[in-house]
Amino acid sequence: MYRTHTCGELRIADKEKEVTLSGWVQTIRKFGAITFIDMRDRYGITQLLFGESLNRQIDENPLGREFVLQVTGIVSERSNKNSNIPTGEIEIVVSSFNILNRSLVPPFTIQDDTDGGDDLRMKYRYLDLRRNIVKQNLQLRYDVNRAARNYLHHQGFMDIETPFLIKSTPEGARDFVVPSRMNPGQFYALPQSPQTFKQLLMISGYDRYYQVVKCFRDEDLRADRQPEFTQIDCEMSFVEQEDILNTFEGMVKYIFKEVKGIDYTEKLERMNWEEAMRYYGNDKPDTRFDIKLVELKSSFAEEDRNVFKKEIEASGFKVFTEAELVGAISVPGCSDYTRKQTDELTDWVKRPQIGMAGLAYVKYNKDESLKSSIDKFFDESKLKMLAEKCGAKPGDLILILAGKEERTRKALSDLRLEMGERLGLRKPDEFKLLWIIDFPLFEYSEEDGRYAARHHPFTSPKPEQVHLLDDPSQYGNIKANAYDMVLNGNEIGGGSIRIFQRDVQEKMFAALGMSKEEAQNKFGFLLGAFEYGAPPHGGIAFGFDRLCAILGGSESIRDFIAFPKNNSGRDVMLDAPSSIDEKQLDELQIRLDVKKS
Ligand code: ASP
Repeated sequence: MYRTHTCGELRIADKEKEVTLSGWVQTIRKFGAITFIDMRDRYGITQLLFGESLNRQIDENPLGREFVLQVTGIVSERSNKNSNIPTGEIEIVVSSFNILNRSLVPPFTIQDDTDGGDDLRMKYRYLDLRRNIVKQNLQLRYDVNRAARNYLHHQGFMDIETPFLIKSTPEGARDFVVPSRMNPGQFYALPQSPQTFKQLLMISGYDRYYQVVKCFRDEDLRADRQPEFTQIDCEMSFVEQEDILNTFEGMVKYIFKEVKGIDYTEKLERMNWEEAMRYYGNDKPDTRFDIKLVELKSSFAEEDRNVFKKEIEASGFKVFTEAELVGAISVPGCSDYTRKQTDELTDWVKRPQIGMAGLAYVKYNKDESLKSSIDKFFDESKLKMLAEKCGAKPGDLILILAGKEERTRKALSDLRLEMGERLGLRKPDEFKLLWIIDFPLFEYSEEDGRYAARHHPFTSPKPEQVHLLDDPSQYGNIKANAYDMVLNGNEIGGGSIRIFQRDVQEKMFAALGMSKEEAQNKFGFLLGAFEYGAPPHGGIAFGFDRLCAILGGSESIRDFIAFPKNNSGRDVMLDAPSSIDEKQLDELQIRLDVKKS
């Protein structure tokens, strides 16, 4: 028997017991004739004491870090107790030991604050996974997985697997493709999500489906994306948007309770997309803090949002008068910012990622006086009015950006988040969930000169707007029955009520610029299935990796994936992707003509 107990199990109540433990050598400390070893396994760390006679054996046969040991001995009370670990009151006085395997000196220390850099740890990920901190992340991932499954199981959902080798129908992201040996010249694609399969399952009558499933997208990897990632993918029949929102609000609250012990009783706010864009500048607002965008002047919005337009036009300040959007945020308690600080913020908004030409500010001092970088154009009474329009209070610093509509809105959103961060208002242990609803069905792609589906082509318009699909001039006005769940400024889930009639789906494909033939060729299976009694249905998918990362208080999803890829999509441990043999290529009847870039 390799062990009677784990390294995390023994307590003072086990005193005098003879036990056998197996694990890895964490540290070795020699004190004259005795040696202390901390031995580690998945469950914890136990201190071992090797007395004089065993010490000689150790000297002859030196132990090293990460050796795999088996020891037998007596559980004893420690004289020097360690209250930081659960086994800290005891140690094992070893009577015999056995080296089960040796280890090379690991390339980095297996500790929370390791000396190993990112690349090194990824190359030796199997060692990295021994670290407590990474282990806790994987444990949390498992806890979230189990909680989601439990909840869904009890709600009558059935886990049904869907295939990984499917047909390539790129929409949105690029597909990963897999050549077929048995069908030379033809390719499968790896699914970007099981979207059409789960809809087919609804048509088959499995009215509550879920899967914790890998999805594959060949995207340029922006920060913190993975080419393969995991979704909690769900679909339901005979439901309206309201049913889905309630069911999955329940699921996330259940996960919070089970995994974090948090009673999230508050009903989730439902914010429509337009509001989110208007007040937060993006569709996944971080509502842990209350700073909102104010449109002082907008060339696109209605009059009531142009709260300072008249004054701007009268000021003669070209930067403002020529801008499509002049927007502001009031940052609480920052009116005493120094020149150096405002200069630094100005540099911040001028960085290429933000792309603004400059930053204007108004200090609404605690004594209610006002000082600004635009004093030349706005006298004190105008500044006061501006402060009022921004809802500012004495002590606030009002930051103003101006420029092209889209870029300025995004910059205001980024600035809002940055100030939230600087003021410590984005606390990783505080959680704020909400729904964003009423998304536009389409978004216009300047690049392609046509409309694209904002969510995906299977999303239903609002029922009362279906007829607008017949009028291309109305595409921009159609709202979707689509929803996202947002947590702390991240989209953690998204879904929609689906189209379930062939004619509506055909109109949708046509609106997306697909010919009848193309639609038939790509999605004929789905259009056909719609003709055999498709029920009304809808669903949602949660980004499982991201949900885990946020619950774990981390920015990075990689920390929550056992074997992740790096930012260039490489697995540095396996050294993948890599070339394949000439023989494999021959079997696939593929000849390579790789362009050197
Ligand atoms: N399949 C969708 C996605 O991956 C989610 C859904 O609509 O259920 O974004």
